[in-house]
Amino acid sequence: MQGIHRALPVYLLMGVAAISVSAQQADDSQFKYGLAPQNVVESRLASYTRKNSEREPAVRRLFEEAGCMGDALTEQSVKGTKAPNLLCTLPGASDSTIIVGAHFDLVEAGSGVVDNWTGVALLSSLYQSLAITQRQHTYVFVAFSGEEAGLIGSTAFVKQLGDRRMRIKAMVNLDTLGLSDTKVWVTHADERLVGWLAGVAKVLNLPIAAVNVDNVGTTDSEPFRQKKIPAITVHSITPETLKILHSRADKIEAVHVDEYYRTYHLVAAYLALLDQKLE
Ligand SMILES: [Zn+2]
Repeated sequence: MQGIHRALPVYLLMGVAAISVSAQQADDSQFKYGLAPQNVVESRLASYTRKNSEREPAVRRLFEEAGCMGDALTEQSVKGTKAPNLLCTLPGASDSTIIVGAHFDLVEAGSGVVDNWTGVALLSSLYQSLAITQRQHTYVFVAFSGEEAGLIGSTAFVKQLGDRRMRIKAMVNLDTLGLSDTKVWVTHADERLVGWLAGVAKVLNLPIAAVNVDNVGTTDSEPFRQKKIPAITVHSITPETLKILHSRADKIEAVHVDEYYRTYHLVAAYLALLDQKLE
């Protein structure tokens, strides 16, 4: 592993309202996104359940609370797991699609808050962040079933795409957030997707580092990569915190809420930027 997180300057919280930030690159494009307040993001984090069987309904409640409901919220049954994948769609002007994914199932040794309620609970807030304005791309927020049993939900999702996978321009996977500031699995990520994320972090002065987990495990971005869909996994694992996963130490007290909220902010801005950067 490399790129270990160092202490960073105190972060100034930005407003709840939509903000626009000038990209520093040659183009002067603007990207807009909203931010759910930190207390809302923290209460969504605290709404976890320890039972695998109750996780998917709990994610559904968060999506509905965030305004993703009715036809926008659909289940996809998955062979090999009881719980379905849960999909929240934010329609864009085109059917070119950006997938934002996180798994909801847990290893019951701990409470599964870190791995991966931190990721899946953020999907609803990210939906809100993007829904403030009309987007070019369609965004699909996918809560995956069966990750811990071998990427079952994400593999099934990719398989059912068939030729429609050509529409998927990027997959952003969130797995195990809030142990530290934002980390990226660079060796298993699309180069352009990493570059744009680093650019947004620089513009917003938010911390980011590379921590590769090649020898640690795998995650839901991999089935997408196998089908040549550009993908990136955002996490927060460091050599020091790795032991928390799949253990009794995986509990809400292990989550650093300020770091967690910074990751939310960064990913919200990033997803808004991808709408402009991707074809
Ligand atoms: Zn896990």
